[in-house]
Amino acid sequence: MFRHHSRPLVSAPAETAVLALLLAEGPLSRVELARRTGLSSTAVTKAARPLIDDGYLYELPPERTAPGAGRPVNPLAVDPDREYFIGLKISGDQVFGAVCDLRAGIRATAGRPLDGCTPGAVAELTAELVDELLDTEPAFRDRTRHLGVAVNGDVDRESGRLRHSGLLGWREVPLAELLTEATGLAVTVENDVRALAVAEHWFGEGIGTEYFALVTIGAGIGSALVVNGQLIRGAYGVAGEVGHLCVDPTGPRCRCGGRGCVEAIASTDAILAAVRQATAEPHLTFCEAADIAREGHPAAREAFARAGHAIGVGISALVSLVGPERVVVSGEGADAYDLFSRHIQEAYAEHAFGAASRCPLSLRPLPWEEWARGGAAVAIQALFPQYAATTTIGVG
Ligand SMILES: [Zn+2]
Repeated sequence: MFRHHSRPLVSAPAETAVLALLLAEGPLSRVELARRTGLSSTAVTKAARPLIDDGYLYELPPERTAPGAGRPVNPLAVDPDREYFIGLKISGDQVFGAVCDLRAGIRATAGRPLDGCTPGAVAELTAELVDELLDTEPAFRDRTRHLGVAVNGDVDRESGRLRHSGLLGWREVPLAELLTEATGLAVTVENDVRALAVAEHWFGEGIGTEYFALVTIGAGIGSALVVNGQLIRGAYGVAGEVGHLCVDPTGPRCRCGGRGCVEAIASTDAILAAVRQATAEPHLTFCEAADIAREGHPAAREAFARAGHAIGVGISALVSLVGPERVVVSGEGADAYDLFSRHIQEAYAEHAFGAASRCPLSLRPLPWEEWARGGAAVAIQALFPQYAATTTIGVG
């Protein structure tokens, strides 16, 4: 087996700045690029040249300018089909994959059930899934070099190791290495919620923001923070854990050992447990719990309202501490959204402090494709030297 470092596409800071801006914001003129990046027009032209030669950028037809406004300008644009990226989400019982283009547009998707959650089984299934995805169009196979993996747990992106995942029951798994061997692609591994935040920050609602937060709700309550334009990892790999903020010191026990954490009140399991207890129906499913709440069962409605309130209070703490420009709240429990979204907004509005509360919350569902797209966004970042994992093992 041969290994070497995956070479970033761009190395000069000027090239990095130009490509990153065009990826996020679409076509811009050289003048606009110079203004936005602080580079000189000459530096922009010089930085764009090799990217045009390699087919990553192209010039759009000249924009019509007003008579006498000087020579027409040709805006620069990214060719999204120049290169493709595979994003993968490994969950406890399935592996989902997507082929995305250079601007994180989803082009093909596939999923496989996972039986046996060992690293070896996941690597084998990943190889099959990647093959299936690359076979959907000849261009995918020709122009895909990078795979990005979004996975639950404590991930060391630099070394490509999954340190620990409670969901998968894994410890110290060299996941990037395993998946490179299985697929032949350069692999970047990232925590799933952070990967989703990368997609949202580079290609979604967080574009152009220096301070941004993403909160995911579902089986767990996760969050990721962008501060000064950078995803925050924290000194010990933990930062912005909104799920384990205590919102009710007398509340239920949390799996973290604490009491009254947001997650202990608002995870799908916590809501279900509360509804089961209130209705004395121990076999109720989450969907059934949502149904009886919708039908007006007071205790069931209360369980959802309490969950929404806990999430809203947690987010208000996050917003008051960090002051993001916006927060995206995305949830797997989208079926029950109608039952708690109002309570999230109300508790947030009530508790967020001062000017920080001007930060808007966007609430929306989280289909699995979005997780896979998060993986692809992380793979796209590998084109840039500051994001390329120093020890990414790759071919090509
Ligand atoms: Zn907790």
